[in-house]
Amino acid sequence: MYDKNNIFSKIIKGEIPCEKVYEDEDVLFFNDINPISKIHVLGVPKLFCRDFSDFVSIAQPEALASFFKKTDMVIDRLGIRETGYKILTNSGKDGGQEVPHFHIHILGGGKVKI
Ligand code: AMP
Repeated sequence: MYDKNNIFSKIIKGEIPCEKVYEDEDVLFFNDINPISKIHVLGVPKLFCRDFSDFVSIAQPEALASFFKKTDMVIDRLGIRETGYKILTNSGKDGGQEVPHFHIHILGGGKVKI
């Protein structure tokens, strides 16, 4: 069951502010409040989905492809396509997921140690 009161849901709805990197009607990319690398951007689809598996199960194929195409566009805008980056997603208890709305972490801007 999706928890509509999770913090990313509130950020998507504009109830809580964030530092936006890119937004359109389907996705939002914003800076992580507690960065673990020089560049640490979170990317969320605006679909109500708990985690990666939920996103894959709920989203239409076009929406899945579009999310990852936009992720690559953001990577380009951040200027880290050539220098490199990590994309990470945590899922569930064993994955250490804190916020139960599917999101990816884009980490870069220097050697990423995880
Ligand atoms: P995860 O463990 O994958 O669920 O990661 C959740 C991430 O959300 C962590 O890196 C937090 O620092 C980040 N975070 C939590 N609250 C906020 C917020 N209000 N704005 C931006 N990032 C946040």
